[in-house]
Parts: sequence; structure tokens; C-alpha cells
Amino acid sequence: MSEVPYAMSINGQRVFSGETAQAINPATEQLICDFPMASREHLEAAVAAAKAAFPAWAATPVEARQRSLEALADVIEQNQEAFIELLITEQGKGRGGAEWEIGGAIHWCREIAKQRLEEEVVLRQGDEEVVTRHTPIGVVGAITPWNFPLLLAVWKIAPALMTGNTLVLKPSPFTPLCTLWFGELAQAVLPAGVFNVVSGGNELGQWLTEHPDIGKISFTGSTSTGRRVMQSAASNLKRLTLELGGNDPAIVLPDVDPKAVAKDLFWASFANSAQFCVASKRLYIHEDIYDELARELVAYAQGVKLGNGMEPDTELGPLQNRMQYEKVCDLLEDSRRAGHRFLIGGEVGSGPGFFIPVTLIDNPPEDSRCVVEEAFGPVLPLLKYRDLDDVIARANDTPYGLAASVWGRDVQAAERVARRIEAGTVWINQAHVFSPGFAFGGHKQSGLGIENSLHGLAEYTNMQTLMRKVLP
Ligand code: NAD
Repeated sequence: MSEVPYAMSINGQRVFSGETAQAINPATEQLICDFPMASREHLEAAVAAAKAAFPAWAATPVEARQRSLEALADVIEQNQEAFIELLITEQGKGRGGAEWEIGGAIHWCREIAKQRLEEEVVLRQGDEEVVTRHTPIGVVGAITPWNFPLLLAVWKIAPALMTGNTLVLKPSPFTPLCTLWFGELAQAVLPAGVFNVVSGGNELGQWLTEHPDIGKISFTGSTSTGRRVMQSAASNLKRLTLELGGNDPAIVLPDVDPKAVAKDLFWASFANSAQFCVASKRLYIHEDIYDELARELVAYAQGVKLGNGMEPDTELGPLQNRMQYEKVCDLLEDSRRAGHRFLIGGEVGSGPGFFIPVTLIDNPPEDSRCVVEEAFGPVLPLLKYRDLDDVIARANDTPYGLAASVWGRDVQAAERVARRIEAGTVWINQAHVFSPGFAFGGHKQSGLGIENSLHGLAEYTNMQTLMRKVLP
């Protein structure tokens, strides 16, 4: 490996920068490699290239754009094992999680490639016709976080390109490598300038969101950054899709068998070491089954292997970066000071690696930090309830509204609860089910707009009403 093995992709070229930063393996805290830090000039070049490439790409027949997306899926598939290893190395997740993410990236490219926004004739009357159609926006700026770096990038790349836009993408500075490499490989199957990748710090994200030649920003990240993105995007009224944070409740009804659901409930919270926007972050358990389910969860957690994702039996990896690790340590310290009881976990080892053990907290007060804040780490409060109206009110008492789940043997009763939850996705007796065909988006301060499905595709377009009348 050379010192800077992955380049930015600007106008079809591999581009390096005089300035670099370090990509760190979160399981070892060792340097993986340096990566380029884009200057303002790099960003200007990327936006100019995307702008120049736009007219031809927008005019490219949709079938050709479909083939390009399928070719993008192929380049990931041809390098699948190397992507999996790079993802484990830079993100920290276990092998199962990395396979899921890389497989998902391939699947999403292929499925979004089949989606179409057809023209619709809304009126045909005599010699008059009214048609609504979708036109591409122009240059899209995409900004991604560090928890699912490649999959969440593909959630933006595929619909943006499919609808005829060109793209400038900025990965998180904590996990830039898979995205940079994908950008490089993509140049072989796309015209120059259609898909540009620039890496850099948070200031690069700010420049992107302020840029007057960008027509839309698609952002996934925290709610606080989302607010800043919205402010910057106001300068030229950019279209916006914001996928933000959540504090997702899971409600367990009294008729469930604790033994039967403990495993699914565990992974609903702890998959990807709980660095999952839709992780169950507050687990409300009916008092009749609270003790038994708590015991089952502890027993299951005891058998889960935490470690370096490169070791084959690792199920949970470290947190992705020191900043997040320290944030979660601080949350644990707060619980300790408040006298919360840890059913398991709570003690953090000395490293190396940003490892935090699975921690279950026994019924802390509803206003505790570990209940009201998005932990984004493996710390889960178990919360007791007696009354259904009360637990629904508690579940909804949050500025967030990303996702939720309800667990019950009586599915109709569970659905009645689900329909009262204020969240963009509500699962019943399952969690983390996504599809290119299912709309995904947040209510309240968890976001704006939709990703996936034809609703998500439409967000990469302007709608045009075309009215035709024949002259006499
Ligand atoms: P973050 O907001 O810190 O960073 C996200 C991205 O924004 C990064 O690429 C970062 O460099 C960039 N950025 C930072 N400041 C910016 C600015 N002022 N202008 C423009 N861009 C800027 O989020 P994170 O810590 O990387 O990710 C964790 C958060 O993301 C969590 O809150 C999680 O819930 C959320 N998330 C949401 C979803 C979803 O689909 N709703 C998915 C994954 C993660």
C-alpha cells in the first residue's frame, strides 16, 4: 500500500491533495492510511465538473442510466471481499454486518435501477392535454455519516444518478475509504464528472451546502448538523432530504414470551454496536414480564462476542471513533453518578480500541440522560410500564420520530399501539427491515423527506406540469 492509496474522484480523474488526514482502525487505534483532504479549489473543480456533465447525463436515455447503475453494482460485486475487509477495518463492524452492508449496496444499485417515475396524463379533454413529469434537479451534494458509510452513500448515489442528476459526494472523515475507492471504480463505468467524490472535514460539508451551483443536498447525520445544513442550504433554496437522529422506542406487550423475543430485541438495539439511527434506544417492557425479559436479555448478551471485526466469531465491534466512544463513556459515567443499576456491562476496559461492553440499565428515571439522549452506542435503558396509554405517551415524548417497534403475540393489539406511534417507520415483531421499495424517513426532528421507494426517487426531481393545446 502506498501512503495515500485512495484518491478523490473529480471529473473522472484520480485527485490527491497536499493536505491529508489519517484513517484509524477503531479496533486497534492503528493508522490504516492517510487520505486526501479537499481544499475549496477541489470542491470548486468537482462542482464545476458535475455541472458540465449534467446536460448530457440528464439527456441520456433512462435505459442507459439503468445499465450504468447495474454496472456500479457489478464493480462492487467484483470486489466484494475486498470491500468487506476494508469496511471492517475502517468502520469496526463484525464480518456479518459488513457482508450485510456491502450486499445491501449491490442490491440497492440494482433495484433502484429498475425504478421509474412515469409521466402522468392528468387531463385529456378535446385538444387539450395536461401531463405531469419529473425533471432532474442538476448537481446534487450528498453527505454521509460513519455508521454505514457505503450503504448510505449508495442510498443517495443510485436515485440521484437514476433520475439524471450529477453528484458530488462527501463521506464522513471518520470512514472515507470505502467511498473513495467506490468513487474510483465508478469512473470506469460513468462519464467524467457525473459522480465526484471529495473527502475532507466538516468544513467541506459546509462549503458543499452553501455552494450556489448545487441544487439539492441529501444529508444523513445528526439532527444538530442537519439544522446547520438546512440553514446553509437556504441561501439558494436548495431542495433537501435530511435523514437525522432518533431515540427509537420499542414497546413489549405483556403477552409475549420473553424467551422467544429476547434475541430479536437484543439485535434491534445492539446491531452495529448500536451505532444505528434506527436502533431501539428505549425498551419499554410491561411490568408483568419485566424481570423475566431482563434476565433473558442479560443471558443472551453474555454469549455475544465483542472484539475486532476481523476475528471470525466477532458479533459486535468497537465504536467507530474516539469522539463517539468518549460521548458514550460520559453517558455511562452520568448513569453511575445517578446510581442507576447496571444489569450487565457499564465497565469500560483500558483499550486499545474503542470498545464499550453491552450495557443494560435497570429501569432508570424517564428523565435520565441515558433515556432522553440518543446514545449511539451499546447502552440500553430497560423501562417498566403498567398502562398502555402511559407507555404510548412516554414513547412519543421525544423531539425525534425516526422508527419504533411494538412486540406482542396479539398482532392486532400490537398494531393498534403501532398506529399511535409518532415515527416514520414502525415495525411489529421485527426491526431493521429495509427495502429499496419501502419509504424511509423521519417524523419531527428526525428528518425531512424520504429515502427509498418512488417517493424517495421523486425527491431527486422537480415536478413539471406540461399543458398542451392544439391551435385552431
Ligand atoms: P454528523 O452530523 O456529525 O456528520 C454527518 C456528516 O456531516 C459527516 O460527513 C460530517 O463531516 C458532515 N458535517 C459535519 N458538519 C457539517 C456542516 N456544518 N455542514 C455540512 N456537513 C457537515 O453525524 P455522524 O456523527 O457522522 O453520524 C451519526 C448521526 O447520524 C446520528 O445522530 C445518527 O442517528 C444519524 N444517522 C441517521 C440516519 C438516518 O437515516 N436517519 C442514518 C445513519 C445515521
